[in-house]
Amino acid sequence: MEKGPDIQPKTKGKGAVEPPANGLRRDTVEFLGVKIDNVDTGQLLERILFFASTPHRQRKVMYVNADCMVLAQKNPRYMDVLNGADLVYPDGAGVVLGARLLGLRLAGRSTAADFMPEFAKHFARAGLRLFLLGARPGVAKAAAKALKSQAPNLLIAGTHHGYFKKEETRGVIQQINASKADILLVGFGAPFQEFWIEENAGQLTPTILWGVGGLFDFLSGRTPRGPRWMLDHGLEWLCRLAVEPRRLWRRYLIGNLLFLWITLKQGLFQPGKK
Ligand code: UDP
Repeated sequence: MEKGPDIQPKTKGKGAVEPPANGLRRDTVEFLGVKIDNVDTGQLLERILFFASTPHRQRKVMYVNADCMVLAQKNPRYMDVLNGADLVYPDGAGVVLGARLLGLRLAGRSTAADFMPEFAKHFARAGLRLFLLGARPGVAKAAAKALKSQAPNLLIAGTHHGYFKKEETRGVIQQINASKADILLVGFGAPFQEFWIEENAGQLTPTILWGVGGLFDFLSGRTPRGPRWMLDHGLEWLCRLAVEPRRLWRRYLIGNLLFLWITLKQGLFQPGKK
């Protein structure tokens, strides 16, 4: 995890904090057509807390890794949804390295499984209510329990698994809204979670709608993450591949090569166009 400044928000009311140093101006790079925020983990927290303190406007927060970047090249709708978000952070060493190959600077990667226990302490202090939506039945609840063990005052507004039918969506949304959650974490995996957020934002009352992928599996301990040195050296994909080879071989073995190829092609053949 990129270590950001230890942010101590000046709380004035529920979740109220000083705006980020550069106000609401985004510092983004455009990499393979996707607008990505140049934020380290500290700045990411700062932005999230600021979003939460301005509830008159709903915000969408998303992440990208190498796999997401490849998907976005093939799926223009996904690219549009990412580019319509209020904050898109790199959660994958590949995106940071790939951008660097094209001369673009990104502060570093921020991986939710690393930062969420720390963020939870700040959410607790700010009185923000979290709703965890996604993963197999029981996993979001176990993830909430794990977060509460790190941040005992954290307010969990509710949890719901991610395997409901389309016709159950209304009921799930009613449950989320009734919980009065400020932050909704949606863990369905990309791009399904981004499409779901986009489609249902208008019906949802939480201030922040945030795609978090497989976060709940990691927090609950359902999926092991691998040794720290591998996570810190851009090898998280290898750990994930070792744990779930049948599901993930295509994503990582073919996907990473494809990502490298697309990036190099961009750099070699269209140097002006990132
Ligand atoms: N998932 C879900 N509903 C679905 C399909 C998947 O809640 O219909 C969950 C799945 O259980 C897992 C997450 O979505 O917790 C996807 O994790 P993955 O690691 O593939 O996401 P990534 O972070 O790599 O995008």
